[in-house]
Amino acid sequence: MTVDMGGGKKAFTPLSQYYQTYLDRACMDIVTGSFDYKTVLRRVVKEMTASGLRTIDYASGYSSRAPVAARRAVMTGVSQLSAQINEMVAKDLKTDTFEVTWHAGHRPTHWWSGNVYSMQELHLVCGLGDVSGLCGANCRHSYFAFIPGYSVRTYSPEQLRELETKEQEVHAWSGKRYNAYEATQKQRQMETTMRAQREKITLLKKGGADQTDIAAAQARYLNSLRQYQGFSKRMGLPEQMERVYMDGLGRVLPGRDFKRKSVAKASGSGIMKSSSTKEDIEVHSVGKINRDIYRCITEDIVTEDVIITNNQMQHILDRHPDAYTEVVNYLSDIIRDPDFIIEDKHDNTGLVIKRVELEKEYAQMVLRICTSDDNPNYKNSVISCWEISEKRLQNYLRNKRILYKKE
Ligand SMILES: [Zn+2]
Repeated sequence: MTVDMGGGKKAFTPLSQYYQTYLDRACMDIVTGSFDYKTVLRRVVKEMTASGLRTIDYASGYSSRAPVAARRAVMTGVSQLSAQINEMVAKDLKTDTFEVTWHAGHRPTHWWSGNVYSMQELHLVCGLGDVSGLCGANCRHSYFAFIPGYSVRTYSPEQLRELETKEQEVHAWSGKRYNAYEATQKQRQMETTMRAQREKITLLKKGGADQTDIAAAQARYLNSLRQYQGFSKRMGLPEQMERVYMDGLGRVLPGRDFKRKSVAKASGSGIMKSSSTKEDIEVHSVGKINRDIYRCITEDIVTEDVIITNNQMQHILDRHPDAYTEVVNYLSDIIRDPDFIIEDKHDNTGLVIKRVELEKEYAQMVLRICTSDDNPNYKNSVISCWEISEKRLQNYLRNKRILYKKE
């Protein structure tokens, strides 16, 4: 069996014989039901890694990391093989009608999924045989023989309309909006990032890199992992970590102890830059306050800089895990342009609130202003942050002292 990745060209040039043998066997194992996808993919990756194969060069000049290429080729191969088997079955059953499967998060151009077609329509409407069409590269749709008057459709046209409407629903995350397809694309991107980060850690370890560099790389990976979990949860999508772990690198993070201590160092949100000097690694810069706005908390403002310490980040992670993956991305926005500042029971401290694109709509931050009474090395500091609802905000506005309101 050969897998056509488009343009009629055989997909793989160097090592193609060698590679093809693995993949053919893998596809057969899956199609015959001897093994499931996950088991087979893990085995293929292991065999390839052991052989020293790291990247696959396509005839097109494009090159892919071996595990990713293997997964894609196996999925595509299985899908094409199933299609061929189905055509044989249809011939035996003397039917020219097929039902195409439906799945959530399909690409918009595969709108034809879930319906019943003739073989000619499978080619004309669904692009069967095309690299971008039904059973083409990366397509997770398939089709089955359908006997009119006997087979029952999986989804009625009415149900399909409902499902498709749901596909268009958008969910907000970190200030962006995603429909089902966009969300799955974003998931794939995040998985790619994590694979690269895991490889980096492995290379650093192998190269005997500095312990601090390894810890920093691990923290970045851990942060991505948390972002991925938060994102998947918000979008209502299952996590597909097997797409990451198929890299065969195994565990790249140390034990649980490490996790608790170094998550706070994660600077992957892009907002908190950790400085390069050693003692500064404990704090992250978040932004600057505008004195005109924040003098409502105290007139005695000694610096415009705002920081967050590792301790406080750990606190947010422990107490408000949702806020960690979401609100943390907004910290500098909230500081720069708050909607409300409300009095807090502690001195020189304000509740800074801003409307953001989160489920609960508002992000609230507790900000402690550094005054001339404080240690001169201190800066304004974010104590905590979490999400609040419109209802909670209205409650505050009725019952607490409003120090500042955006015009
Ligand atoms: Zn598809």
